[in-house]
Amino acid sequence: MLFFYLSEVYAPWLAPYAYGIVLLGFLLFLFRFFENLYAAQFNKPLFRHYFIYKKLSAVQLSILTTEFNFYNLLTKKQKQQFEHRVAHFISEKRFIGRDNLIVTERMSVLIAAVGCMLSFGRKNYSYSLINVVLIYPDQFFSVINNNYHKGEFNPKEKALVFSWSDFENGFKITNDNLNVGIHEFMHAMQLEAKTSRDLDSLRFSKHFQNILKQLTLQNVKDKIDKTAFFRAYAFSNQYEFMAVLAEYFFESPTEFKSQFPKIYDYTKKLLNFNFAQY
Ligand SMILES: [Zn+2]
Repeated sequence: MLFFYLSEVYAPWLAPYAYGIVLLGFLLFLFRFFENLYAAQFNKPLFRHYFIYKKLSAVQLSILTTEFNFYNLLTKKQKQQFEHRVAHFISEKRFIGRDNLIVTERMSVLIAAVGCMLSFGRKNYSYSLINVVLIYPDQFFSVINNNYHKGEFNPKEKALVFSWSDFENGFKITNDNLNVGIHEFMHAMQLEAKTSRDLDSLRFSKHFQNILKQLTLQNVKDKIDKTAFFRAYAFSNQYEFMAVLAEYFFESPTEFKSQFPKIYDYTKKLLNFNFAQY
């Protein structure tokens, strides 16, 4: 019986496969090791995007090309990556209409597109703290501070909440530095950076500290007061500051860069954002 058992286990023909698997595991380990080393050294992912296999439908794609200018500014390869990420976001998250709003394809594509634009420089792009996107037709009453809101990120419910009319104005009017989509997605990204240890979160935390350090410098403080470039709401707290900074980064990159080059540069590094005109 024992002999029979041993002969079952001893299967020499399996050996090459076993070696293969061990070798593969070792190579993967080496690659991961090198990838982490690279990220620590250069503060950005070695590869931000490996596989492209998800596609948008023709209708979804035409919404991007006609309404989402950032997409049109990308290279061919970046467009495919962006498409994959938008499709991934739409398939992963639930979109729910509130107050009788029917969620249209246009809404889900444009909301996903704003989120994917903000996270486009990252390897980790899928917003693990968001499961559901709630959409109201207009500003909605929030029990958080008993007030009407244009948007909100609720980490407890893992929900991103928007007033559709304000979300639409946010991306349609591209030069007023108001973009509630970018603003709320940044809240979700920043909270994730605080609680996660992935490469993108570590880079986020590092450059966020650099930005905060800038804010302690007297000459920067004076310039913030003198120019009144950033709207006052930015200075409510650290989270609002980062969310407002992201709105300015996307809507007024040129002016932001010329007024506060260091803060702009750290924001660009924090997002690893080297696309289009940024
Ligand atoms: Zn906010």
